[in-house]
Amino acid sequence: MPKKPPLIFTVVSALNLTPSMIRVTLTAPEIAHMDSGCAGANCKLFLPQQDQTLADFMHQMQTGARSVVRTYTVRYVRTERCEMDIDFVYHGDTGPASVWAKRAKPGSFVGFAGPGLVKVTSFYADKYLVVADMSALPVAAATLEAMPEDAKGMAIFNILTEQDQQDFRIPKGIECHWIVKPDPHAASDAILDMVKKLDWPAGSVQTCIAGESGLVKKLRQELIGNRGYPKDDCYLSGYWKIGLIEDEHQKLKRAEATQ
Ligand SMILES: Cc1cc2nc3c(=O)[nH]c(=O)nc-3n(C[C@H](O)[C@H](O)[C@H](O)COP(=O)(O)OP(=O)(O)OC[C@H]3O[C@@H](n4cnc5c(N)ncnc54)[C@H](O)[C@@H]3O)c2cc1C
Repeated sequence: MPKKPPLIFTVVSALNLTPSMIRVTLTAPEIAHMDSGCAGANCKLFLPQQDQTLADFMHQMQTGARSVVRTYTVRYVRTERCEMDIDFVYHGDTGPASVWAKRAKPGSFVGFAGPGLVKVTSFYADKYLVVADMSALPVAAATLEAMPEDAKGMAIFNILTEQDQQDFRIPKGIECHWIVKPDPHAASDAILDMVKKLDWPAGSVQTCIAGESGLVKKLRQELIGNRGYPKDDCYLSGYWKIGLIEDEHQKLKRAEATQ
């Protein structure tokens, strides 16, 4: 059976939420029928070429012709207004998605497939560990906002500049660290060292950890490999990898999963 073509979403606004994060608000009539609780779920964005007309792009989507596809996170959805917010890290002009977001303005368009499943849907742990770089701030923020008021634990964020710190609801019992790391391509073990030092009393731990693949891999080894946290309690996902474009990174992840 042929795949369903992506939906066409139109840009309502594109604003600098912080210096390195662009919030693009999108609209389409189909959003009215989406799950109003899908903040934190991922989606696929099909990017038009620069200067491509809407008619040409729609034809391309309907015929299933290849296009550049990237994975993003639903930050907020307002089904009653048919609107969805997606937050894009602007990481320079090498990435088609980063560039698309930078150029997006009211009336720009993009193909959309999803949303997928929300990553962490039930909260039952004694402690929570959240780790995110800017690419994973949307999933981390949506997860923290969904946590019960009395949740306890730690959240560690890598941001590119001090002004990239965001204001969203974080339960009071979650100790929060915003670490400025201006070069996302320079590997660093600072967060791994912080996690290694955690000496939480015995009890259950749930995680929401995502960002650059190299760090996520090391955290997976520490938390599941060394500490023995059950895999089912741990959302750990590499969202991008230094030196690889998304297609190459996805291919590598698939190859590693079959090893
Ligand atoms: C489930 C999931 C959800 C995601 N949600 C979001 C989201 O909500 N917001 C978001 O901004 N990103 C998100 N990402 C990450 C995003 O898909 C990647 O960053 C993607 O590579 C961006 O595509 P691009 O076209 O800009 O760059 P690409 O063409 O893929 O890469 C170009 C170059 O940029 C580098 N690069 C890619 N991403 C980054 C980055 N974040 N920082 C620095 N260098 C980078 C690559 O290593 C490569 O060298 C998510 C990823 C996954 C798997």
